[in-house]
Amino acid sequence: MDFLWTKELTPPSFSELNGDQETDVLIIGGGMAGVLCAFWLKEAGVDVLLAEGKRIGAGITKGTTAVLTAQHDTLYQDMIQRFGKEKAGLYLQANLQAVEKFRVLAAQIPCDFEDKPSMMYSLHDRALMEREARAVRALGFPAEFTTQTPLPFSVAGAVRYPNMAQFHPLKFLYGAAQGLNIFENTFVEKLEGTTAITKQGRIRAKKVIVATHYPFLNRHGLYFMKLYQQRSYVIALENAPDLGCTIEDAAQNGVYLRNYNGLLLIGGGDHRTGKKGGGFAVPRSFAKQYFPQAREKYAWSNQDCVSLDGVPYIGPYSPGLPNVFVASGFELWGMTTSLAASKILTDTILGRENLFAPVFTPDRTMLTGQLFSNLGTTLLDFVTPTTKRCSHLGCALQWNAAEHSWDCPCHGSRFDEHGGLLDNPAMRDSDVE
Ligand SMILES: Cc1cc2nc3c(=O)[nH]c(=O)nc-3n(C[C@H](O)[C@H](O)[C@H](O)COP(=O)(O)OP(=O)(O)OC[C@H]3O[C@@H](n4cnc5c(N)ncnc54)[C@H](O)[C@@H]3O)c2cc1C
Repeated sequence: MDFLWTKELTPPSFSELNGDQETDVLIIGGGMAGVLCAFWLKEAGVDVLLAEGKRIGAGITKGTTAVLTAQHDTLYQDMIQRFGKEKAGLYLQANLQAVEKFRVLAAQIPCDFEDKPSMMYSLHDRALMEREARAVRALGFPAEFTTQTPLPFSVAGAVRYPNMAQFHPLKFLYGAAQGLNIFENTFVEKLEGTTAITKQGRIRAKKVIVATHYPFLNRHGLYFMKLYQQRSYVIALENAPDLGCTIEDAAQNGVYLRNYNGLLLIGGGDHRTGKKGGGFAVPRSFAKQYFPQAREKYAWSNQDCVSLDGVPYIGPYSPGLPNVFVASGFELWGMTTSLAASKILTDTILGRENLFAPVFTPDRTMLTGQLFSNLGTTLLDFVTPTTKRCSHLGCALQWNAAEHSWDCPCHGSRFDEHGGLLDNPAMRDSDVE
């Protein structure tokens, strides 16, 4: 796996925990969500400590494509139907404000921030794109319907958002982490109330934010029913054109593209982790067809958590844990929604009202089609006869021949060929030999 963002960049180094500590707020997880929470809480004068199990940014954040946009697929027409215009408008505003906050922060944190319009197109469904443009305009944002894109083929329709952006996620994250109270290589094994237990000591806190990508407390909040993981595959090409925007195919098996520093990034091949899908073949065959002169320089894959209704879970972890909060379910749109999460959770912890908090509250209804799909996958997987079972909740692991890993279709944990833990929610290795 060859990740673009980690190249030619020296990560900052933070010491590991050495003995017991006390803090007002403990953040577990140093990805985009955790670091941004620590950033705003510190700015508000709160005593805050962040515990990261590996190195900051070493989770999903290092494998993002870092497009900063409020254009999250064709979500708004669905959201208006499902939640009403007010909530859909608040989701839009939360993400537009996040783009603006990144723009302001990028003036202090060098991170190759660039203004770019974002676009979404459909090859065959003009009506879908027209509906989405209308929905977004009805929410007060000047999204534009067009049939013109910079791609070398014609499309049925596209929606364009002006004033969106892109950046280098790790340059930003490392800059934002400067001066924060961070312990790296400090893996939280469990929480007892609001005390975190690690191998190096206990961290006693008044409040805790779980920003571990997939929430790791299984007994609370039913996140193992509410989330699955989606894998996605990215290649970066030399000698390919600059598109002047970020752009995505609205189709489920479609690609997404952005440029960075002379490279063209193409992502796609998405599938539920543990299931079969297009993988690298999708962006590679797209590149071969439309940019045959280009050369592949980097290729990586990664995964994100998907919620039951397309909206992240940000807020109290569960009714039984009043001082524990969560930020997860970013649906491959976790740059702006991490920023929204960090503002919501900072306000919540400071006792301030946040207009956007009710949209993302994790205790909203679970009654969606996706719940039954998640339950069906889990039940089917549980009865699959095999000795190779996930150390998380015992699901049958599937061999991923393309990536040489054992993957769990239920919750998305992944292990290397010897059972070494690659991706959570599992907390330890699995026995696969
Ligand atoms: C291929 C791909 C492309 C994407 N492109 C975009 C995009 O263009 N725009 C966009 O907005 N979003 C995008 N996303 C989504 C975005 O990258 C993610 O939503 C975001 O990076 C998630 O950040 P996070 O902080 O939640 O998780 P992470 O970055 O995974 O951070 C969680 C951290 O918690 C640590 N941790 C876990 N368990 C423990 C524990 N018990 N104790 C201590 N530490 C622990 C991990 O080591 C990790 O560092 C993309 C995602 C993928 C997969």
